[in-house]
Amino acid sequence: MITIGVIFIPSDDAEASRATKSSLSGKIRLGEHSDAETTDNDTRPNGNAYPVPLAFRTPKPPSADEIARDTQESGNLDLNGSLDLNESALTQVTASTTTEPEEEQETSEEFTVRSGDTLAALFKRAGLTARDVYEITQLPKAKKNLLKILPGEEIIIVKNDAGQLKRVVYHLDPISTLKICKDDKGYSEEIIKKTVENRTQFASATISSNFWNAGVGAGLTPNQIMQLATIFGWDIDFALDLRQGDNFAILFEEEYADGEFLRNGNILAAEFYNQGDRYTAVRYKDGNYYSAEGRSMRKAFLRSPVDFKYVSSSFNPRRLHPVTGQVRAHRGVDYVAAVGTPIKAAGKGRVIKSSYNQYNGNYVFIKHNETYTTKYLHLKRRKVKQGQTVKQGQIIGTLGSTGRVTGAHLHYEFIVNGVHRNPRTVKLPQSLPIARKEKSNFLALSKQLMAKLEQNKQVQLASQ
Ligand SMILES: [Zn+2]
Repeated sequence: MITIGVIFIPSDDAEASRATKSSLSGKIRLGEHSDAETTDNDTRPNGNAYPVPLAFRTPKPPSADEIARDTQESGNLDLNGSLDLNESALTQVTASTTTEPEEEQETSEEFTVRSGDTLAALFKRAGLTARDVYEITQLPKAKKNLLKILPGEEIIIVKNDAGQLKRVVYHLDPISTLKICKDDKGYSEEIIKKTVENRTQFASATISSNFWNAGVGAGLTPNQIMQLATIFGWDIDFALDLRQGDNFAILFEEEYADGEFLRNGNILAAEFYNQGDRYTAVRYKDGNYYSAEGRSMRKAFLRSPVDFKYVSSSFNPRRLHPVTGQVRAHRGVDYVAAVGTPIKAAGKGRVIKSSYNQYNGNYVFIKHNETYTTKYLHLKRRKVKQGQTVKQGQIIGTLGSTGRVTGAHLHYEFIVNGVHRNPRTVKLPQSLPIARKEKSNFLALSKQLMAKLEQNKQVQLASQ
């Protein structure tokens, strides 16, 4: 307890070094702070002029002696040189010596927030004076943002050659940076924002082995590949329907901050050829995707209750039934994937059965309306109860090998008016068109994006 108390009382050098050692252990808890504060307050002389916001817990307001000492040091500071405040100095980690003799040498050091760290502990490690810590925590932007620091984040501390604080720099996010400056006029703060610019990028691929590899080959990130599969997930069963020669082309946004690549943005437009059928998608300002003609991509049923990334051997059209060893002759579709693979409700509806028997194993039936029912068999676990309503895409269970099977798979049935249909080819209810008042705007956008997509495809074709 004594050691913990010492950490927050910067009274002399010996204690400060002990404090550094203690904080290196990284075991400082908020609860202990309170205790330490109580102890501390009991021993601290009264009449302090620096009330500290409760939220900070630490630091302690500097004592009158410390303020006097800090002021003394500031007074000794030779500030006739102009401060180098440019950005490049901020990003330098090692000491930078400027050639101008009248300019100060500055040292910039990064401090990583540790688990269990507090702002005060970090500033202490960085060797900030009690007064600096206090003054910084009084600045509104610093107060708001520095309180949220998380382990692993970095705070950059810039000092002059006399070891006095010049700047505190904290990257709030890839675009915004909090900069706290100290000069002879005092402390100031600002949030600097980079200019973000969107660029449109094109990518395309023809599928030769599988969709994932094609996406990677086209330079797409895993997230973009999944986005693309989601956009077309109502039209195409990415687990079983893709064939060699299928191809896609997309336009997507890339965000640049001050000219540097920041991250990928949304897919703006996409075209997918699956077994000769062409599907298109255009993102509208409402954040939804519509076909180039303006029909919603969202439909009453997903083509597949299993994400393609879990399903193996998607290119074997003569898939053998796991029980009979014969080419699919039964009334459903089998998805072979690892035990535990999440299974989704193909559409919203009500669970009319969630049960177990020796043939089906664990099974779930969902009634979507008077016309449509879907069935999911051989589950390892059921995650819904009979009578429960489910949303489209909701996980209803996990793939397993319960019941009369020889290998793990999902047996999926799609029933229309009591008749089993192939879920991958059945004609599904028409999706909603875009709102009438948005239609002309949408079509103008769609025309422009699809033309740009086509143009990029031609350019790429020509270059091959
Ligand atoms: Zn089956």
